[in-house]
Amino acid sequence: MDRDQALLELALSDEPTPVLVAHARRLSDGQDAPFGLKVEDVLTRTLTRRAAYEDARRSEQRLVEAQRISQVGSYDFEIATNTNLWSDQLFRIYGREPQSFMASYEVFLGMLHPDDVEHVTSVHQRSLATLEPYEMEERVVWPDGQVRTLASWGEIVVGEDGNPARMVGICWDITERKQMEAQLVHEALHDRLTGLPNRVLFVDRLAQSVTSQNRNLGAPAVLFLDVDRFKVVNDSLGHDAGDEILVELAGRLAELMRPGDTVGRFGGDEFVVLCQGIQHPAEAMHVAERLIEGVSGPVSVTGADVVLSVSVGIAISSSQDDAPADLLRDADAAMYRAKRDGRARCVLFADTMRDEALARLETEVELRRAMTDGQLRLHYQPVVDLGSRQVVGFEALLRWEHPTRGLVLPGEIIDIAEETGLIVPIGEWVLHEACEQLARWHQVQPELTMAVNLSGVQLGRIELVRRVAAVVDATGIDPPLLSLEITESVLMGDAEEALGMLLDLKALGVRISIDDFGTGYSSLSYLKRFPVDVLKIDRSFVDGLGTDADDLAIVQAILALAGALGIDTIAEGIETEAQRDVLQSLGCRHAQGFLLGRPAAAADTRLGAIVPGPR
Ligand code: C2E
Ligand code: MG
Ligand code: MG
Repeated sequence: MDRDQALLELALSDEPTPVLVAHARRLSDGQDAPFGLKVEDVLTRTLTRRAAYEDARRSEQRLVEAQRISQVGSYDFEIATNTNLWSDQLFRIYGREPQSFMASYEVFLGMLHPDDVEHVTSVHQRSLATLEPYEMEERVVWPDGQVRTLASWGEIVVGEDGNPARMVGICWDITERKQMEAQLVHEALHDRLTGLPNRVLFVDRLAQSVTSQNRNLGAPAVLFLDVDRFKVVNDSLGHDAGDEILVELAGRLAELMRPGDTVGRFGGDEFVVLCQGIQHPAEAMHVAERLIEGVSGPVSVTGADVVLSVSVGIAISSSQDDAPADLLRDADAAMYRAKRDGRARCVLFADTMRDEALARLETEVELRRAMTDGQLRLHYQPVVDLGSRQVVGFEALLRWEHPTRGLVLPGEIIDIAEETGLIVPIGEWVLHEACEQLARWHQVQPELTMAVNLSGVQLGRIELVRRVAAVVDATGIDPPLLSLEITESVLMGDAEEALGMLLDLKALGVRISIDDFGTGYSSLSYLKRFPVDVLKIDRSFVDGLGTDADDLAIVQAILALAGALGIDTIAEGIETEAQRDVLQSLGCRHAQGFLLGRPAAAADTRLGAIVPGPR
């Protein structure tokens, strides 16, 4: 019997634990103990240690119970003997039957996720060298294949000779916590609706590709996409349908992109695409055109096919020093231009657009000042009774007496004012000013009417009804003499909300006009549902009266419709006598237009005027 065989028998002689058996086998196979220790040492220590362990085991019952409850497992690894004593709970944490095998260091490593083995051994090695405690996360692969994440903490116990003798520590399962953390991180970086990267993640990726660009690999380009007239779709079909459309669009965009590119959503109907490796602007234009074409097919939601288009602005990075925020701003400015140029197109950013964007910003700042400095004015355009040729009312139109630019028209004000919310205080001022003027005019001509334009933004604010009531009250005007003009798109907005608001306004006794009628998307059924008093026939139809048969047919149809529903009509933008005559012959009673009177300051307006024309 050789020495190892003797050792084995010795080991087997006394109720062997799996640990001891496995270790004895190892010795009998002629393998060396780890860390260069002698076989005799190993055996002596193994036996001593086993006796101690058996002792401890009895008092350990309580510990076992505690571990099971706290779900923390513990280990005690003796370096010299390569024996790793595991608590029952640790076996469970590793997805194994308690005490079903001896977890030598190699067995332990074999159960880890292969990608984590190197990290774990290096942490141990470092700790053995420094004698510092260690803390780490490692993944274990269960026999059924599931991967669990564990946290472990341990320290080195030094032997009498001053060298590391044992590694002892505890370990617990943190898989669920990790999953929750990962979920939180995902949510923080992705758009909830579409699952696309959000602004934070997108900007991060953009920053990375900006700094890593070089001449050979090409530059990153930012494509800023905005869905054309999304608000109208969203408002008319409802927010759920709008969401469905956005999800569909997100899917289409993601499919159209090349691997390595990033599609993100910045909220609302704004999508962004990061294209890598652009060598020439034409390449980015090409990508944008492909996107425009790819997303523009019909989307079917709630039984309707909605045809969508997007406008795209492109900014291409030109240096590693570019700031992501600047690129996004430039792409946004280019997108804005694409919208203005007619939508469903892409525009490459040019430096002049930066100036335009700056000019808009400047206008905003100045507009705020205009309010406080009293630079806003109202001009009044007469509404004429085509039969009597008498001025029966006025429409109040906003003007801005700019200190250097002269008289600025609403076309340059309203958009910015709506975007910035300034339209609310401006609109209130307009309402108040127009009603005060009407009250003054009533002293001369009591039946005169006043029309005030309302922005959709104002209509979205609950306080509007209260404000209108307060102004009517303060100025003492008879409510039916005030009409509030809204455009069709406002009706299509959140229809239920708009309806409620209009009914409340109606209840005050004021009249409701639909401005620019015929240019929006509204369905005729709205006219029945909404409390509409007046339709204003848009200038674009009046334009062709006398020359264009289609325009004639449209105006005729509008007049017939209004007549049938008991709604008044006002034709807008009469510039020629021919237009006026046709309208009169069609039975249109009221009209506005340069022929009948241009908008003018109150001081330049004559009341009771009879405008020239046939009797
Ligand atoms: P709108 O309410 O349809 O007003 C009629 C616009 O057509 C006015 O332009 C008026 O000057 C112009 N116009 C009138 N007759 C003729 C004509 O015979 N020929 C031509 N070519 N144009 C004519 P303006 O004052 O520039 O206002 C443009 C739009 O701005 C208005 O269209 C209205 O939608 C909006 N707006 C004006 N004032 C306000 C306001 O106080 N608040 C809000 N929210 N919008 C306003
Ligand atoms: Mg109007
Ligand atoms: Mg109009």
